[in-house]
Amino acid sequence: MAHCSSSLLPAPCATLNGTMQRPAFFFSPFGLVLAAAICSHALVAQGLVRGSGHAEDRAAAAYARAVKQGPVALRAFLDPFPKGADLHVHLSGAVYAETFIHDAAEDGVCVDAAALKFAPPPCTGGLIPAAQLSGNLSSADQALYDKLIDAFSMRSFEPTLGWSGHDQFFATFARFDGLSASHIGEWVDEVAGRAAAQNQQYLELMQTPPFSHARQTAARIGWSPQLAAADLRAFAQLRQQLLDSGLRDEVAAGRAQVQQAEAQRRLLERCGAPRAASACRVEVRYIYQLLRANAPEDVFAQALLGFETVSASRAANDDLWVGINLVQPEDGYVSMRDYTLQMKIIGYLHSIYPDVPISLHAGELVMGLVPPEGLRFHIRQAVELAHAQRIGHGVDVADEDDAPGLLKEMAARHIMVEINLSSNEGILGVNGARHPFPVYRADKVPVALSTDDEGVSRIDLTHEFVRAAIDYNLSYSDLKRLARTSLEHSFLPGKSLWLRPDDFQAAAQPCRSDTPGAQKPSPACAAYLGGSEKAAAQWELERRFSAFDSLF
Ligand SMILES: [Zn+2]
Repeated sequence: MAHCSSSLLPAPCATLNGTMQRPAFFFSPFGLVLAAAICSHALVAQGLVRGSGHAEDRAAAAYARAVKQGPVALRAFLDPFPKGADLHVHLSGAVYAETFIHDAAEDGVCVDAAALKFAPPPCTGGLIPAAQLSGNLSSADQALYDKLIDAFSMRSFEPTLGWSGHDQFFATFARFDGLSASHIGEWVDEVAGRAAAQNQQYLELMQTPPFSHARQTAARIGWSPQLAAADLRAFAQLRQQLLDSGLRDEVAAGRAQVQQAEAQRRLLERCGAPRAASACRVEVRYIYQLLRANAPEDVFAQALLGFETVSASRAANDDLWVGINLVQPEDGYVSMRDYTLQMKIIGYLHSIYPDVPISLHAGELVMGLVPPEGLRFHIRQAVELAHAQRIGHGVDVADEDDAPGLLKEMAARHIMVEINLSSNEGILGVNGARHPFPVYRADKVPVALSTDDEGVSRIDLTHEFVRAAIDYNLSYSDLKRLARTSLEHSFLPGKSLWLRPDDFQAAAQPCRSDTPGAQKPSPACAAYLGGSEKAAAQWELERRFSAFDSLF
């Protein structure tokens, strides 16, 4: 039987053979909960999960005690807390440096020990085989291994004259570049495994598939003053020229890349077999990542390819690609110069492909990084011109023209902000009271916590929950709201479980008389959950909340 206590940590559950094990969870993307938490099975049998009345109060009291004890106790409390989704994750930035070094050894890649980066073989002229950094390392190799991990991340980083956290953060990506795409499935497995260990159930991973053909075609067609002026007829003409030149050829490559990655990670995780890894229970979808530092014709062609890929994925019902985003430093020269043009390109493509969800990095800026005039319009244009449903970062919101009006608009339109606290501190030096997280919350703009680049930042999502809980004095129900908001604004297909957006009080009509998360939904509610992946995921989150609360 299960042992529940009011101590800080959920008590482990005794399994049938007597071994102790932490709660584990199952999630079916098709709407029906397949199985309950190993621990909560026993709890349900005892009538403790549902109808216990005060389980949530006891969990909230345990949370308050953990907060009082400090970040170590809080970490232990929050590690198994159900966190819903991480919606802002760059796959390459989420993998830890140790994995990349291991993969470089497998690929026969070399290490440039002076520049602290990977280099293609042959490993001559002072280049060291990465394979030398595996197995029994000499002390010299250990020193290089340590330096390489530092160079691939924010570990041990201290800003120096002319080299800021921003510079270090963005420089890492080119240093660990050059590994075989055959590792993508392993990387997804790593990130999903980490998510499962922290009781997350859903990830949207940003990834850039091949687009060289689109790029070459765009370069051949070129750019014109009409296009630079965002003339809609010129946009339409360019789109047609690109399609006529075979732009859709690369749609298949993009779809195949994530299909193979999913197949590979499910194989690694033994999904569907006995003793399947817990990572199998993490649903993964992909956001098509466009590069904003490229020339406008490149951005247009890649954006078109992204919208086409997501549309094709949806039409084929595989739903692996669920949205698009623009990445690379927002303060870069081209990003700043072309910002409005890029928003108009995305806005135009939105008019052609209105069903393709859009999340945009906007306002990942701070006073001093760019001139003050550059802080005045990025978030608003992402919302109003590009029709972003979610904003990544949104750090400079207070510097926008009519910031109160913008916040009001975002709240009214339910534009969610993906909050990346550690990333913002590392790149922008913004933290604590200088971060707009409490402003968004006070103005009822939906917010959820995300990791951005957990491998580069050397963090995980629990770290972000601990940080938010302490820095912003969050209540237990605030934490649940963050997790619920993440799934509410996920790009999973289907309607929400909830009657009103961002109001997690009443369920939608077919589930109105059900208790969200209950083991057996009513037939009407079960049918509703069966028809909506999003509602099913939200139901599962409620079930996890009940199971977690009942452990106290
Ligand atoms: Zn990001």
